[in-house]
Amino acid sequence: MNIHEYQAKELLAKYDIGVPTGYAAMSVEEAVAAAEKLPGPLYVVKAQIHAGGRGKGKFAELPAEAKGGVRLAHSIEDVRRDAGEMLGNTLVTIQTGDAGKQVNRLYVTDGVDIAKEYYLSMVVDRATDRVAMIVSTEGGMDIEEVAHHTPEKIATIGVDPATGFMPHHGRSVAHALKLEGALAKAAQKLAKQLYEAFVDLDCAMLEINPLVETKDGQLLVLDTKMSFDSNAEFRHHDYAELRDETEEDPAEIEASKYDLAYIKLDGNIGCMVNGAGLAMATMDIIKLNGAFPANFLDVGGGATTEKVTAAFKIILSDPAVEGILVNIFGGIMRCDTIAEGIVIAAKEVDLNVPLVVRLEGTNVQQGKDILANSGLPIIPADDLGDAAKKIVAEVKQAA
Ligand code: ADP
Ligand code: MG
Repeated sequence: MNIHEYQAKELLAKYDIGVPTGYAAMSVEEAVAAAEKLPGPLYVVKAQIHAGGRGKGKFAELPAEAKGGVRLAHSIEDVRRDAGEMLGNTLVTIQTGDAGKQVNRLYVTDGVDIAKEYYLSMVVDRATDRVAMIVSTEGGMDIEEVAHHTPEKIATIGVDPATGFMPHHGRSVAHALKLEGALAKAAQKLAKQLYEAFVDLDCAMLEINPLVETKDGQLLVLDTKMSFDSNAEFRHHDYAELRDETEEDPAEIEASKYDLAYIKLDGNIGCMVNGAGLAMATMDIIKLNGAFPANFLDVGGGATTEKVTAAFKIILSDPAVEGILVNIFGGIMRCDTIAEGIVIAAKEVDLNVPLVVRLEGTNVQQGKDILANSGLPIIPADDLGDAAKKIVAEVKQAA
């Protein structure tokens, strides 16, 4: 789960981490009121979307020469104008895809006199079972270029969760950032605080870019992206308040209500599968047959009629879907129960695209009989390869 920059900064401030003062704003008036609370004379108006690259981003509705999603404003009037230009418009950045994201919230923050920009992020590194701290002296808006062309300028420091953050980790961070004296001390303290926040908040990712050295010798978090590990949601009931559903895919929100693992993809074949591994294999085999999946969807172990119906509705709500492949392995959940669910659901949603169903496992014959006798144009398949071939052929034929 992702949150906005201003929310992440509010959380970091609770750990005594230095961030410039700022306020969120949902309207031009709120943006102006926010700026009036700041000392000035430099303000920064920042689009709040769940994507980076805002500074270099472009607004779809504005002329190409218009400024991007992070704007330095030198007066309250500039803040008013920038807020008016940004709110409600669509910001396209390298991370949003071509469709861009509508800007519904702004963050109005203190302008900082920057001496140098650094990079510092943390992720859970599954390969080493550690929290990886990734740091670079080359922070700022071109970090992707740095990673691509000069990866030696990026250092990774692993922190073993069994020992936690040790003073030597802090020294390694300061050394990698080539800091000395008071700034090195500040970097050590900051790295420790960030690690504590990361673990405490169950982050999946925390990126500070840029981390800045100010002209008066402080280290400040100027931009941050934070995401939480959804598996830890039960420990953090306050996550819910931070969720901005306007940033999420409506079908994914609907799916989460039914506890369905759904992710929208770019293809035209809707998939309904039980088990994440089987879902991955199903997607692979669709690709192998020359087509693309429209989604990943794991209905889970207890694929009840209610869940199967919800899953059908979600798949069909995607206008790109031209055919559906159901691939269910009946284990504890028997194939006949699944087949009944599919029949009820298919009737209820008024299915208008070809549907191929592959069932395997407990009571498979009873399941197949139920589908065959349902009166619905369900195309049965014997195995995964057969199922993929059939749905790809059906969709091609219909096109
Ligand atoms: P993004 O990464 O989405 O482009 P950032 O918040 O990193 O957005 O802003 C882009 C650049 O704008 C930063 O690298 C920094 O140079 C400048 N910037 C951002 N916030 C401030 C600020 N409060 N004061 C001065 N400059 C800023
Ligand atoms: Mg940034």
